[in-house]
Amino acid sequence: MGADSLLSDVQQSLDLLRDQQLLRSRREVDSPCSPHVLVNGRDMLAFCSNDYLGLAAHPLVIDALAEGARIYGAGSGASHMVSGHSRAHVLLEERLAGFLSPHVPSARSLSFSTGYMANLAILSGLTALKGADHTAVFSEELNHASLIDGMRLARGAVTVYPHRDTRTLERQLAQCTARTRLVVTDSVFSMDGDVAPLDRLLSLCQRYDAWLIVDDAHGFGVLGGSGRGALEHFGLRSERLIYMGTLGKAAGVAGAFVCAHDLVIEWLVQRARPYIYTTAASPALAHALLSSIQLIEGAEGRRRRAHLAQLVKQFREGLRLSSWKLVASDTAIQPIVVGSNEQALRVSMALEQQGLWVPAIRPPTVAEGTARLRVTLSAGHTGQQVQTLVDAINHLQASL
Ligand SMILES: *Cc1c(COP(=O)(O)O)cnc(C)c1O
Repeated sequence: MGADSLLSDVQQSLDLLRDQQLLRSRREVDSPCSPHVLVNGRDMLAFCSNDYLGLAAHPLVIDALAEGARIYGAGSGASHMVSGHSRAHVLLEERLAGFLSPHVPSARSLSFSTGYMANLAILSGLTALKGADHTAVFSEELNHASLIDGMRLARGAVTVYPHRDTRTLERQLAQCTARTRLVVTDSVFSMDGDVAPLDRLLSLCQRYDAWLIVDDAHGFGVLGGSGRGALEHFGLRSERLIYMGTLGKAAGVAGAFVCAHDLVIEWLVQRARPYIYTTAASPALAHALLSSIQLIEGAEGRRRRAHLAQLVKQFREGLRLSSWKLVASDTAIQPIVVGSNEQALRVSMALEQQGLWVPAIRPPTVAEGTARLRVTLSAGHTGQQVQTLVDAINHLQASL
């Protein structure tokens, strides 16, 4: 058989996705990331980026990126273990370790090109400590796909615990005989916007001698008075914490980092394949990130977080929903569960006709029957822009 049979299988699978309203499409954006974007030549008001503080197109960050390229060049040229580990990466790692040090004793940090890679490295690296029989991973039901893929690379048994259910987790931990125990969770759940009970999770980890891996992709920069994220929000400090923050969301640039006890980081450097076998990110990005962390930590970050909190409140108080359901969330992620894929797409398209960009999220990203509009708010939005969205959604809910 030739390539014909392969192509016809692909065609059939694509047709199936189309029939189920699961085909995805990408839109071409022809402007910087901001509330107003040019999409296919049309000006749209966007409520879909994870640029929660509006730093992705901040003049200081843009200047720092250009300056970083002038100082360090465009590319790193090699992996970190060969010759790609630039002074810019070192400065970034030191800055991030210092930033998180109130929460992580003996903190050291390790930078990655993406959060996806960082999660693969944490899970594959830490489960390779003592071999498969010695390791057990306890994973929150709604964890991000990158953590799930990390567990596919991991050695050792994986047990899933229900969403935010620390009682079930406790029962599972009590029965576990493995030597290395890893509890792994998103801090802010990316499709729901609610927050994991990290304080109770950490107590359980202390009682049952486990590590707590926190994926703070949607918390770093946004949560906590000075933007240190979920650990600051809960006031946690422990050597058991293995913290992963991403730098392409609130930090507005790209990349990610793991912050943990010095020895844990040293192990990842030595043994985590997703860290070792990939080209280091551009040092210019690391340089730009120094300036966005400066913004996050300072008065401007504080102002932006306060404005964002105000917008979240305005959005929640303004909606008048009957059949659709606003998910209980205090964060910038404000999903509205609509139900069927078809209905979610219809609402998203109706908003698009009014120049409002709100994506419909469908299975497998969320559970069957819970297709939703995922509204994300940003400190870059104005109150007026949020009101425009609220009015449009209220109007559609009444008419569809
Ligand atoms: C976005 C995200 C990631 C992946 O981070 P990237 O830097 O985009 O690869 C990991 N975990 C969660 C919860 C995320 O939302």
